[in-house]
Amino acid sequence: MPRRATEPCACGCGGFPSQYGYEYIRGHRPLPSLYERLMQDVTRSDSGCLEWSGSLTSTGYPNIRVGVPGKGGARGKGHRVSYEHNIGPIPEGLWVLHHCDNRVCVEPLHLFLGTNTDNVADMVNKGRNQKGEKHWNARLTREAAGRIWLEYDGRTGPWSWSRINAPRFGATTSQVYHIVSGSTWAPKRGQKEGDW
Ligand SMILES: [Zn+2]
Ligand SMILES: [Zn+2]
Repeated sequence: MPRRATEPCACGCGGFPSQYGYEYIRGHRPLPSLYERLMQDVTRSDSGCLEWSGSLTSTGYPNIRVGVPGKGGARGKGHRVSYEHNIGPIPEGLWVLHHCDNRVCVEPLHLFLGTNTDNVADMVNKGRNQKGEKHWNARLTREAAGRIWLEYDGRTGPWSWSRINAPRFGATTSQVYHIVSGSTWAPKRGQKEGDW
Protein backbone atom coordinates (compact mmCIF):
# COMPACT_ATOMS: atom_id res chain seq x y z
CA MET A 1 0.00 0.00 0.00
CA PRO A 2 1.34 3.47 -0.86
CA ARG A 3 1.66 5.89 2.04
CA ARG A 4 -1.27 8.26 2.38
CA ALA A 5 -0.60 11.97 2.09
CA THR A 6 -0.27 13.80 5.38
CA GLU A 7 -0.80 17.28 3.95
CA PRO A 8 -4.24 18.32 2.67
CA CYS A 9 -4.71 19.06 -1.02
CA ALA A 10 -3.12 22.41 -1.85
CA CYS A 11 -6.28 23.54 -3.63
CA GLY A 12 -7.99 24.15 -0.32
CA CYS A 13 -10.75 21.59 -0.86
CA GLY A 14 -10.03 19.97 2.50
CA GLY A 15 -9.41 16.51 1.02
CA PHE A 16 -6.17 14.53 1.02
CA PRO A 17 -4.24 13.37 -2.03
CA SER A 18 -4.39 9.59 -2.26
CA GLN A 19 -0.62 9.19 -2.30
CA TYR A 20 2.16 10.60 -0.19
CA GLY A 21 4.16 13.29 -1.93
CA TYR A 22 1.31 14.53 -4.09
CA GLU A 23 0.42 18.16 -3.54
CA TYR A 24 -3.01 17.99 -5.16
CA ILE A 25 -5.76 15.42 -5.43
CA ARG A 26 -5.69 14.27 -9.04
CA GLY A 27 -7.42 16.85 -11.23
CA HIS A 28 -7.38 19.60 -8.58
CA ARG A 29 -5.74 22.91 -9.40
CA PRO A 30 -4.46 25.88 -7.40
CA LEU A 31 -7.34 27.93 -6.03
CA PRO A 32 -8.14 31.25 -7.65
CA SER A 33 -7.89 34.27 -5.36
CA LEU A 34 -11.14 35.64 -3.95
CA TYR A 35 -10.89 38.48 -6.48
CA GLU A 36 -10.38 36.11 -9.41
CA ARG A 37 -13.39 34.12 -8.26
CA LEU A 38 -15.42 37.32 -7.97
CA MET A 39 -14.56 38.39 -11.52
CA GLN A 40 -15.76 35.05 -12.92
CA ASP A 41 -19.40 35.87 -12.22
CA VAL A 42 -19.95 39.58 -12.79
CA THR A 43 -21.75 41.47 -15.52
CA ARG A 44 -21.98 45.19 -16.29
CA SER A 45 -25.49 46.57 -15.92
CA ASP A 46 -26.97 49.47 -17.90
CA SER A 47 -26.58 51.67 -14.84
CA GLY A 48 -22.82 51.03 -14.78
CA CYS A 49 -22.90 48.64 -11.85
CA LEU A 50 -20.70 45.56 -11.93
CA GLU A 51 -23.13 42.96 -10.62
CA TRP A 52 -22.31 39.62 -9.05
CA SER A 53 -24.67 36.86 -10.11
CA GLY A 54 -23.51 34.11 -7.71
CA SER A 55 -24.69 33.31 -4.22
CA LEU A 56 -25.43 36.00 -1.64
CA THR A 57 -24.95 36.38 2.09
CA SER A 58 -28.05 36.52 4.29
CA THR A 59 -27.86 40.30 4.06
CA GLY A 60 -27.75 40.29 0.27
CA TYR A 61 -24.05 40.89 -0.43
CA PRO A 62 -21.99 38.79 -2.84
CA ASN A 63 -20.77 35.72 -0.97
CA ILE A 64 -17.38 34.83 -2.44
CA ARG A 65 -15.93 31.46 -1.55
CA VAL A 66 -12.95 29.51 -2.81
CA GLY A 67 -12.26 26.00 -1.58
CA VAL A 68 -13.23 25.17 1.98
CA PRO A 69 -12.80 28.17 4.29
CA GLY A 70 -10.54 27.27 7.20
CA LYS A 71 -8.97 24.38 5.27
CA GLY A 72 -6.88 26.43 2.91
CA GLY A 73 -9.90 28.04 1.25
CA ALA A 74 -11.37 31.43 2.05
CA ARG A 75 -14.54 33.46 1.92
CA GLY A 76 -15.34 37.15 1.71
CA LYS A 77 -17.99 39.67 0.77
CA GLY A 78 -17.66 40.71 -2.87
CA HIS A 79 -17.75 44.47 -2.37
CA ARG A 80 -15.04 44.28 0.28
CA VAL A 81 -12.91 41.97 -1.87
CA SER A 82 -13.25 44.40 -4.78
CA TYR A 83 -12.45 47.42 -2.62
CA GLU A 84 -9.31 45.83 -1.20
CA HIS A 85 -8.11 44.65 -4.60
CA ASN A 86 -8.76 47.87 -6.51
CA ILE A 87 -8.42 50.63 -3.93
CA GLY A 88 -6.62 49.46 -0.82
CA PRO A 89 -6.93 48.07 2.66
CA ILE A 90 -10.09 48.71 4.64
CA PRO A 91 -9.17 50.38 7.94
CA GLU A 92 -10.42 48.58 11.03
CA GLY A 93 -13.93 49.59 11.99
CA LEU A 94 -14.87 51.10 8.62
CA TRP A 95 -17.50 49.69 6.29
CA VAL A 96 -17.50 49.51 2.53
CA LEU A 97 -20.69 51.27 1.42
CA HIS A 98 -22.40 51.65 -1.95
CA HIS A 99 -23.01 54.96 -3.70
CA CYS A 100 -25.35 53.10 -6.02
CA ASP A 101 -27.32 51.41 -3.24
CA ASN A 102 -26.97 48.12 -5.14
CA ARG A 103 -25.64 45.48 -2.76
CA VAL A 104 -24.60 43.06 -5.47
CA CYS A 105 -22.48 45.74 -7.17
CA VAL A 106 -18.68 45.42 -6.87
CA GLU A 107 -17.69 48.32 -9.16
CA PRO A 108 -14.88 50.05 -7.20
CA LEU A 109 -16.03 53.51 -8.35
CA HIS A 110 -19.37 52.86 -6.65
CA LEU A 111 -17.79 51.94 -3.33
CA PHE A 112 -16.69 54.17 -0.48
CA LEU A 113 -15.65 53.81 3.13
CA GLY A 114 -17.82 54.91 5.99
CA THR A 115 -18.69 54.20 9.58
CA ASN A 116 -21.68 52.18 10.65
CA THR A 117 -23.35 55.50 11.50
CA ASP A 118 -22.80 56.64 7.91
CA ASN A 119 -24.33 53.39 6.72
CA VAL A 120 -27.47 53.97 8.75
CA ALA A 121 -27.69 57.65 7.75
CA ASP A 122 -27.14 56.70 4.12
CA MET A 123 -29.88 54.06 4.21
CA VAL A 124 -32.32 56.43 5.89
CA ASN A 125 -31.49 59.10 3.34
CA LYS A 126 -31.87 56.74 0.40
CA GLY A 127 -35.06 55.28 1.86
CA ARG A 128 -36.51 58.74 2.04
CA ASN A 129 -35.74 59.22 -1.62
CA GLN A 130 -36.86 55.84 -2.86
CA LYS A 131 -39.42 57.42 -5.17
CA GLY A 132 -36.56 57.79 -7.61
CA GLU A 133 -36.55 61.54 -8.01
CA LYS A 134 -33.20 61.70 -6.30
CA HIS A 135 -30.39 59.50 -7.58
CA TRP A 136 -27.29 59.07 -5.41
CA ASN A 137 -25.33 61.44 -7.62
CA ALA A 138 -28.12 63.97 -8.01
CA ARG A 139 -26.68 67.35 -7.20
CA LEU A 140 -27.40 69.07 -3.97
CA THR A 141 -28.40 72.66 -4.20
CA ARG A 142 -25.53 74.97 -5.05
CA GLU A 143 -25.97 76.55 -1.66
CA ALA A 144 -25.74 73.25 0.29
CA ALA A 145 -22.69 72.18 -1.72
CA GLY A 146 -21.08 75.50 -0.88
CA ARG A 147 -21.73 75.07 2.82
CA ILE A 148 -20.25 71.56 2.73
CA TRP A 149 -17.22 72.92 0.94
CA LEU A 150 -16.70 75.63 3.58
CA GLU A 151 -16.97 72.99 6.28
CA TYR A 152 -14.33 70.90 4.50
CA ASP A 153 -12.00 73.72 3.45
CA GLY A 154 -8.61 73.43 5.10
CA ARG A 155 -9.08 69.93 6.41
CA THR A 156 -6.28 67.52 5.68
CA GLY A 157 -5.56 63.88 6.15
CA PRO A 158 -7.07 60.72 4.77
CA TRP A 159 -10.82 60.38 5.30
CA SER A 160 -11.05 63.90 6.74
CA TRP A 161 -14.12 64.35 4.55
CA SER A 162 -15.81 61.39 6.22
CA ARG A 163 -15.97 63.31 9.50
CA ILE A 164 -18.22 65.96 7.98
CA ASN A 165 -21.73 65.53 9.37
CA ALA A 166 -23.50 64.93 6.06
CA PRO A 167 -27.10 64.78 7.37
CA ARG A 168 -26.64 68.26 8.86
CA PHE A 169 -26.39 69.55 5.30
CA GLY A 170 -29.21 67.37 4.04
CA ALA A 171 -26.62 65.33 2.17
CA THR A 172 -25.47 61.74 2.12
CA THR A 173 -21.91 60.76 2.91
CA SER A 174 -21.42 59.88 -0.74
CA GLN A 175 -22.57 63.33 -1.82
CA VAL A 176 -20.09 64.91 0.58
CA TYR A 177 -17.38 62.73 -0.90
CA HIS A 178 -18.28 63.76 -4.43
CA ILE A 179 -18.24 67.42 -3.51
CA VAL A 180 -14.89 67.41 -1.72
CA SER A 181 -13.30 65.22 -4.38
CA GLY A 182 -14.47 67.68 -7.02
CA SER A 183 -16.56 65.24 -9.03
CA THR A 184 -19.74 67.12 -8.13
CA TRP A 185 -19.94 70.87 -8.44
CA ALA A 186 -18.16 72.69 -5.65
CA PRO A 187 -16.49 76.07 -5.22
CA LYS A 188 -12.73 76.18 -5.47
CA ARG A 189 -10.79 75.69 -2.28
CA GLY A 190 -10.37 79.05 -0.56
CA GLN A 191 -13.47 80.66 -2.07
CA LYS A 192 -15.54 82.57 0.44
CA GLU A 193 -19.25 82.51 1.05
CA GLY A 194 -20.87 84.87 -1.43
CA ASP A 195 -18.37 83.93 -4.14
CA TRP A 196 -20.58 81.20 -5.52
ZN1 LIG B 1 -8.30 19.66 -3.79
ZN1 LIG C 1 -22.99 50.07 -8.58
